[in-house]
Amino acid sequence: MLTARLPAFLADHRRADGAVALTDARVFDGTGSPPRPHTTVVLRDGRIAAVHNDSTAPPDDARTLDVGGRFVMPGLIDAHAHLSMVQHGSHHPTPPRGAEPLAYDQLRGHFVADTLRRALRMGVTTIRDVGAYGDVVLQVRQAMRYGALRGPRLLACGRIVSPTAPGARFFPHMYREADGVDDMRRSAREQIRAGADFVKIMSTGARSVELEDPNPAQVTQDEMHALVSETHRQGYRVAAHCEGLAGTELAIASGVDTVEHGMYLNQRPDLLGALAAQGGVLVPTLSFLHRVAGDEVWTAELTTQGRYNVEQAHATLAAARQHGVRLAMGFDSPDGDLAATELCTMVDAGLPAAEALAAATSGGATALGIADEVGTVVEGLLADLVVIDGDPLADPGVLLRPERIWLVLRNGEPTAGAVMDPQVPWSSTR
Ligand SMILES: [Zn+2]
Repeated sequence: MLTARLPAFLADHRRADGAVALTDARVFDGTGSPPRPHTTVVLRDGRIAAVHNDSTAPPDDARTLDVGGRFVMPGLIDAHAHLSMVQHGSHHPTPPRGAEPLAYDQLRGHFVADTLRRALRMGVTTIRDVGAYGDVVLQVRQAMRYGALRGPRLLACGRIVSPTAPGARFFPHMYREADGVDDMRRSAREQIRAGADFVKIMSTGARSVELEDPNPAQVTQDEMHALVSETHRQGYRVAAHCEGLAGTELAIASGVDTVEHGMYLNQRPDLLGALAAQGGVLVPTLSFLHRVAGDEVWTAELTTQGRYNVEQAHATLAAARQHGVRLAMGFDSPDGDLAATELCTMVDAGLPAAEALAAATSGGATALGIADEVGTVVEGLLADLVVIDGDPLADPGVLLRPERIWLVLRNGEPTAGAVMDPQVPWSSTR
């Protein structure tokens, strides 16, 4: 598996200076192991310098923050977001009658920036955007890099590569339609040219568009292989939208790094086995499937199909676990701040809370190819941490309550949280 390329880390790469020790922490390290109480986490220059029992004194030069037994975990990672689809989000304002219409095309960047600020406040320290209207997400990422706003680290694919298909009419400027092997290579190169951190391909149709049947595969084997091999050759990772099994099989056979949705995979244990063996990650996006199944805004056919998809996705969650497939949390929404909804949905669907929390942290980091930088509380990694007033293992819902998100650290810097006020000892380093 490839690791992510450097540009992802260029977005807002400020780091805290000096050493800080969080003491009396109950540390969930992101792997799924039980939390360790009475633990000290020493941060130095934005990275985790040491994790040890409180009985060992922190280094002399470290400022100390006693977190009072609170739960400390890696920052949440939303591995499947569509930040630019703001008009479908819960924060969508409805203009009153007679008001100037909401010109999303001009204002989208502002709404994306607002979402990123909210997401960081909720402990989401990394987001992977898997398809945007035009270049707006790439632009906001650049704005973050140069200090216009603070948000989660952001990995983006630019436009989604899709064969010529109905979806491109539904999501204008979100798809880069490509047909044939040369065009597939070109389309991948175009995303890299635009600043993408990875490339996304529609291997099957999307069941949020009535004319897109998820079967058969939307691409040929040659097209899929051309896109994946060119993207990998250049050192970038590939995410594949996978619904129907024919396209999912092509994607896995071509070596994609992440399978998005993949809800029918329970019917093909061989494919789950292959995905696990090659180190691929499944991003089940259960919340979105639930939304299609339960929301009357969709056509009756899509809702009926959606209910079947929910059943299938739940069966696939269990089967993927059985086959040892890595899972990542992907909310599949413009609401990056509510990403933990997906974590709760995975728990409701039967995933043990510790595994869901691992999916939301180390699993996401693995999906994004940045597990050697974030996603676990391990010496040497960047100090993206969340301190929580409560126990998300007992009640994952605390992750959706702002007053329980006590402190969010990104690169060791306190950036948000209920306690962000001048008494936090190192806030003066900003
Ligand atoms: Zn999606």
